[in-house]
Amino acid sequence: ISRQLWWGHRIPAYYCDNCEHIVVAKEKPTVCPECGCTTLQQDPDTLDTWFSSALWPFSTLGWPEETADLKFFYPTNTLVTGWDIIFFWVARMIFSALEQTGEVPFDHVFIHGIVLDENGVKMSKSLGNGIDPLEVIEEYGADALRYALVMDNAPGNNQRYKEDKLKNGSALINKVWNAFRFVMMNLDESLDFNALSFVKDDPAIATEDCWIMSRYNQTVAEVTENLEKFELGIALGKIIDFFWDDFCDWYIEMIKYRLYGDDVDERSSVAAQYTARSILIGALQLLHPFMPFFTTEIYNFLPGIKENDELMLTDWPTFDPELADKDSEKQIGIVMDATRKIRAIRLEMNVPVKRKTPLYVLPDDQVIGEIFLSGAGYLDRLANVSAVELVQSAEAVDDNAVSGVVEGAEFFIPLESLVDFEQEIKRLAKERDKLEADAKRFKGKLSNKNFVEKAPEHVVQAERDRLAGVEDMLTKVIEQLENMEKNLNK
Ligand SMILES: [Zn+2]
Repeated sequence: ISRQLWWGHRIPAYYCDNCEHIVVAKEKPTVCPECGCTTLQQDPDTLDTWFSSALWPFSTLGWPEETADLKFFYPTNTLVTGWDIIFFWVARMIFSALEQTGEVPFDHVFIHGIVLDENGVKMSKSLGNGIDPLEVIEEYGADALRYALVMDNAPGNNQRYKEDKLKNGSALINKVWNAFRFVMMNLDESLDFNALSFVKDDPAIATEDCWIMSRYNQTVAEVTENLEKFELGIALGKIIDFFWDDFCDWYIEMIKYRLYGDDVDERSSVAAQYTARSILIGALQLLHPFMPFFTTEIYNFLPGIKENDELMLTDWPTFDPELADKDSEKQIGIVMDATRKIRAIRLEMNVPVKRKTPLYVLPDDQVIGEIFLSGAGYLDRLANVSAVELVQSAEAVDDNAVSGVVEGAEFFIPLESLVDFEQEIKRLAKERDKLEADAKRFKGKLSNKNFVEKAPEHVVQAERDRLAGVEDMLTKVIEQLENMEKNLNK
């Protein structure tokens, strides 16, 4: 149990200079009980590190003195450590605490994995495969490092160190920072936000406000539940899904028209500002334990937050059953799904950004139909839908319409609204001419007897394959061209 170190508890054994008798005592003896000699030397060795570490839960609080800290903090709640020192450290703290204080020192032990290098090898000084956290922090920031250590990690599991995760952490900070700047630029600083509240029935409150409040509320419940289970990775994932997708990508897009533009309704604008600010604060509170630095920085910029207010000292958000709103979640859910699919169709068909298209909807029932009709504004702003019209059957829509499916409805977009036929015909004709020229060139080469007879067989075959490929594309282009011409002449 002895170690030759300067750092540690020195072994309380004393050797008599005269008769070499050994005394073990709390205090240094003044005389040797054997020979009466008064010169004794303490053993220069220290106890093993884990002996000292075993005292950690109470000695750090001032034990053996009955300090205020010891009274208040001991026993503690949660000990956090890696699995590799459960026996070395955790077990010793428990029996040493029981011996010295008569109490178990903590209720929970949260055992996390250890960080391995990119190849899955344990980091060590001798292998030189470790990373210097200070260098990582210098490059990516402490918040990004904390993110990388928590994200996608389950309790007890080892994880490989991946630089990509640091980049993802930085990207998240940028995303939230941009959302924060957008909200800041659109908050009317003359408003007393602390005097406002969220009133669901207020006509100024829009469906997207109820939706984001409901989603936020649900996120609070899920994050809290997972934190209590020590599922830190899942909790962080839930916060990011909400913050990044729901808030930054959707809600902010949805409220833009209420904040600026030609016909802003003042009350609707205030409701959107209030909701955006409240959600931003709530999301910062949820993210704070994971990424404390930039969340603190942002928080104190918000109007209505005093300079000395500390995000860290605010109350943890709690689930409010009043905010749960299934109707708005259903409506916005369908709008989002339809928007994603319409955007994908437009992207695939290379539709110019500004071109608007009508949308024909075949709903499963009246409720879904109503959702589409009342969601026409969203679809206009988010997916460039010029008008929403309900149809009774697919036959009511032109055959060449492009279709998609969302939960509870099928939708159609007329082809002519997506495609500029004349321009498409020009493009296809150009493509056809180029392919015809290519085909002619390959045919010329293959009809040259000199080439066909003298070149190696595989070279000739390669030319034949290329000709076949070009002819195949040509057939398709001509077919598309004929289709377009038919559509144009309709
Ligand atoms: Zn002696």
